Amino acid sequence: MTAPITQDVLTIPRKDIESETPNLIGMTRPQLRAALIAHGTPEKQAKMREGQIWQWLYHWGVREFTAMTNLSKDYRAFLDRTFQIQLPEIVTKQVSADGTRKYLLRINGGHEVETVYIPEEGRGTLCISSQVGCTLTCSFCHTGTQKLVRNLTAAEIVGQVLVARDDLQEWSIPGEARREERLISNVVLMGMGEPLYNFDNVRDAMKIVMDGEGIALSRRRITLSTSGVVPEIARTADEIGCLLAISFHATTDEVRDRLVPINKKWNLETLLGALRDYPRLSNSERITFEYVMLKDVNDSDEDARRLVRLIKGIPAKINLIPFNEWPGAPYQRSDWERIEAFADIIFKAGYASPIRTPRGEDIMAACGQLKSATERGRKSSAQIAAETAGH
Ligand code: SAH
Ligand code: SF4
Repeated sequence: MTAPITQDVLTIPRKDIESETPNLIGMTRPQLRAALIAHGTPEKQAKMREGQIWQWLYHWGVREFTAMTNLSKDYRAFLDRTFQIQLPEIVTKQVSADGTRKYLLRINGGHEVETVYIPEEGRGTLCISSQVGCTLTCSFCHTGTQKLVRNLTAAEIVGQVLVARDDLQEWSIPGEARREERLISNVVLMGMGEPLYNFDNVRDAMKIVMDGEGIALSRRRITLSTSGVVPEIARTADEIGCLLAISFHATTDEVRDRLVPINKKWNLETLLGALRDYPRLSNSERITFEYVMLKDVNDSDEDARRLVRLIKGIPAKINLIPFNEWPGAPYQRSDWERIEAFADIIFKAGYASPIRTPRGEDIMAACGQLKSATERGRKSSAQIAAETAGH
């Protein structure tokens, strides 16, 4: 097997990274138009300018105002004085033996987040982060051991998609037909953080990713994974309309309280109620139930049967995730035969039950292994106890 490749990309931080000039990246269309007007673009022109700039940013992937050649030189100079086009910067890029790419990105404040690209037969999935760290304390998750540092801005969320498209050279080239095959065909909010605790920024970023005159990914190609922030689930259907994945992981409240402590706030029954409504509200087909396979914790035949009973009536797909270990993790991965036996019970009950192949294990890029190296602060046990009680 070939060894993974690690490449240091960032050497000198860009001067303007902390600059106060408004960043056009991450603005929704109405925000972009309002910003142009607020800085002196006549209202009559603003709609057209918004459309032009939007295309440069999100269809052509342009990073310099000077390259926006259908705008007058003066207007380009005005944009350059007034705004910036700022993306997260790649600090390191690691390429796994299996082709998975993990990017460590630097954002304002010197914080770092991870983004993972997973190429597969006929599709490519970009796994993006929504927060630096996470307030929640799921006991099997590496990110959960790290304090929440802050929410990512919409620019930093959509910026992860832009940076990956840059690296994969996926932008349309003027004069050439739009490429049919997409390298990033799917986006999953399954990196660091709980996306529904950063709702507005996640929504705005996904609106940009879905916009037909830019990256143009359909809402069915975006999956948001949540640990179960019940009040925001209906809003997700209403305001984003993407597919939903739920970190289910247990079939009794007693076990789920331990694995996904937010269950103490919104238990299985409450969660299932919200999930039952989701497909109708979002007009989408199936919810993905993510289920991490932890040896002797949640992996018995009885668990599999209970799982099937609990989700009865919900259009669902069950994604079994073999536990990905990390240094100091308090669990072990279920044996392969156990995972298959569990999958078989679910399959016989009529559900698709794919077992997620761990990708990029040699570069610690698999689900739940992301944790930024710079944010060394660990949650203290007192903090974990307090947060767990609070949720
Ligand atoms: N915060 C969100 C999204 C990020 S985690 C959520 O919890 O849903 C993406 C998925 O990976 C979740 O289902 C999460 O529970 C799972 N996961 C976390 N740590 C893992 C680990 N060590 N091994 C396997 N899956 C893990
Ligand atoms: Fe946060 Fe999700 Fe990890 Fe739980 S599984 S600690 S919600 S990132």
